[in-house]
Formats: sequence, structure tokens, C-alpha cells
Amino acid sequence: MFVLKFGGTSVADQAAIVRLVDIVRAARQAAVAPENTDPRGPIVVVSALGGATDRLLGIAAEAGAGDADGARENVRLLLERYLLMAGVITDDGLREDVERYLGVEFGALARVVSALAVLKEVSPRWLDAIAAIGELASSRIVAAALESRGLAAAWVDARTVMVTTAEHTAAAPLMPETEARMTAVLVPLLAVRKIPVIGGFVGATADGVTTTLGRGGSDYSAAIVGACMGASEIQIWTDVDGMLTADPRLVPDAQLVPQLSFDEASELAYFGAKVLHPATILPAMAKNIPVRILNSRNPEARGTLITASRPSSGLPLTAVASKRNVTVVDISSTRMLMAHGFLHKLFGVFEHHATSVDIVTTSEVSVSVTVDDTRRLSRIIDDLRAFADVTRQDDMAALCVVGEGIQGDALFVSRLLQAIGPVPIRMLSQAAERRNITIVIPDSDLSGALTRVHAEFFRP
Ligand code: ASP
Ligand code: MG
Repeated sequence: MFVLKFGGTSVADQAAIVRLVDIVRAARQAAVAPENTDPRGPIVVVSALGGATDRLLGIAAEAGAGDADGARENVRLLLERYLLMAGVITDDGLREDVERYLGVEFGALARVVSALAVLKEVSPRWLDAIAAIGELASSRIVAAALESRGLAAAWVDARTVMVTTAEHTAAAPLMPETEARMTAVLVPLLAVRKIPVIGGFVGATADGVTTTLGRGGSDYSAAIVGACMGASEIQIWTDVDGMLTADPRLVPDAQLVPQLSFDEASELAYFGAKVLHPATILPAMAKNIPVRILNSRNPEARGTLITASRPSSGLPLTAVASKRNVTVVDISSTRMLMAHGFLHKLFGVFEHHATSVDIVTTSEVSVSVTVDDTRRLSRIIDDLRAFADVTRQDDMAALCVVGEGIQGDALFVSRLLQAIGPVPIRMLSQAAERRNITIVIPDSDLSGALTRVHAEFFRP
């Protein structure tokens, strides 16, 4: 059984929903094919209409600022957009039901924001109640759109199946409770050949108070549904073909990565090479369920498959990633020689100023670190100078090569350095797993070095 998750861009307008229906129809046909002994599903998880969550949070902010008229006007505009989308439902009776539902939900929202505008305060609990409307309403529309186009679908209120903590705006799923609810609600629907349609991102506490899983949480919802229901695959339908071997803005001949491991995806995510946040698919990886990234505008493309581990592709590298605007801080002290506790003291300064350090290299008397967020760096440097010499270098870039194949290739590093060429390397780091090597170089050398490394390892 498959779980299909459609992100905001895959439900952005009527044409997108028509494409979604076709994708679900194809998955349905595969599920009920004669060779399939257990014809069930798929289960569909949907985001809010593209941009709707931002709108809803904007409405909440207006209410919090006391602007009742502005907030109500934006509720009206958003309702209009959802009603327009409901036009995709071809059956009159089904469409009228959904229009009524939208009228009730957005009517309640308008009253809530009026009240909140008087109080001039929006608690996290209210923020969740407001934001949840985006997914509750889009999933209703999608369920009816499928039904009206000949696919037996059943809308499932996410709050009846996704049980979470009460940590509003960043609630965590309670897995045993969620699995019990999903089994109780979804299994009977699947048994009568229905396609359950659930809003992502949304949940509720055991007492039924609406919560959300945090921004971008629909991928997380899909992974949780897949893990609880023992899915054989989770498909994340988005608006790109999948992960690429490099940032196409810097390396025009970047290629699609057909398959990568969860750990590779996690290493790449820090460098911004993310079409999804790897942490959100952890529930699926924990159960060994593959996650496939697919393009709803180009459904024929094979996409990128992420698995907990993967067979060797024969290539040492899976992708090359980079990060600009990196600052290097060199900290050296002869007091470090043979002393214990120095690193503790050093990192304590960064911790005290709530600044995270990303790449670290050390020698006996010096430590180099990189930071992205330099807002508190001058204070950090002042504190470090109490016990060490410190220099700072801005305008650096990190180039990171990632691949499960690096460990098995004894000549890899020499080939890498050869490809990078005559570029001054400020830092070089290879972590324990030997799955990635990160090199810090001047930003002005980045684009050339990336192009050369990519050409060396991804030559067609
Ligand atoms: N609609 C939510 C957001 O925009 C969740 C999601 O789309 O994944 O953050
Ligand atoms: Mg998203």
C-alpha cells in the first residue's frame, strides 16, 4: 500500500488538482491490478493550498495587532480562493457539501479573529486552530474532487487520527496512540476499497484540542501515516524532479540523483540541498519504508528514492553540495598544548552566545570552526580572546561531497583534491562515517571548484 503526499504546489490551483486526480488514479489502478494480491489504497495526504498557511498566519498576526477589519478581509479573500478551488468538484451535490463546509469553517474563523483582535493576543493554541483550517479545507476539496471523478475517496479529519503532544505549533506525534487511531479509522475504509484523504500538518491532543506539527509538517504527517499503516512506499509529490547532484544555479549540468540513503540526505540538507527535511521522514526510515520524491508536473520522471540504506551505485559520490556566506574563526592558544578542558571552554563560549558551529578542524594548538550566523560573533570573539588568539575570515564557502561510496575508494581524496585544483583550502574535514568530506575555500573560488569536482565525478 502506498501513501501519496501532495505539497502546496501540487494543490495550488484547479489544474494542479486535476493532475493530482490523475496521479491518484494511476496509483489506484496499480493497487487493484490483477497481480496485486492485497489491493488497497493509496492513502492520500495533502498540504494546504500553496501559500494558504502563510496567509492564515498573517491573518492571525493581524488579529493579534488588533486589526479586525484587515484580518476579516483576508479571511474573505482566502475563502474565495478555496471556493474557487472547489469548482474542480464536478458533482453538484458533492460541491455544494464542500462549499457549505467551507462557509462554516471560514465563518467561524472570521468570528475568532474578530474576538482575538479585541484581545490583541493570539496564543499558540489559537495559532494552531487557525493554521489547521488550511489543510482541513484542502483535504475536503481533494476528497470530493477524487470522488466526483470516479475514485471512491473518504475524507478523514486529521484530528481524529493524528494524536500529538500539546506543544502547540510544534507538536510531536504520540506514536502508539496514533497507530491505534489510524488502524481503527483507516483499516475499515481501506477494507471497503476507499481512498482515505487526510490533511497533513494537523493533529489533536488526546483531549481533541487542535495542534500542528510545525511548518512543512505535511511530509512528517505522510511519514507517520506510512509508518503506522505499514506502507510499502511513501511518495512525496512536489514541483521538482527530485534531488540533484549539485545546485543547478552553480552547476548547470547537474543531474538527477536516482537514489540516496537517509544519511546522505541528512548530510546534504545542511547545505540547502533539500526538497524535504530529512528529519520529517524519520518515522518511515525507522520502519524501512522507502520515500520517493516525485514531480506532479512531470509524473513520468522516476524521481529520487530515499531509503534507510542503499546498494552501491558504483560511483563514489552521490552529490556535491555547497554553502556560501560562511565565516571561519581560527582560535589558537599554546595553553592548549597538552591541556585538558580547552575544547570544553572554547565551545562553552559559543554555547553561551547561542551560536551553532558547523564545521570543526583541530590541531594540537589551534581550532578552526565555521559559523553561519554571525550576529553574535564579535561578542564571542571578545570572550575567546580572554584565553586565545582569534582571527576571523568572512566570505568563505563550504564545498561538501557526499556519498556512501567514499569509504570504499582509497584514491578518492587524491582525486578530489586534484579536481579542486590550485585553490587555497582553509579547512578540510572528514567525519567518522566517511560518508562526506567538507572543504572550506574562499567564496570566489567556489563556483570553479564545484564545476571541476562535478565534472570529475559525474562525467556522463
Ligand atoms: N501547510 C503547512 C506549511 O506550509 C505544512 C506543509 O505544507 O507541509 O508549513
Ligand atoms: Mg512543503
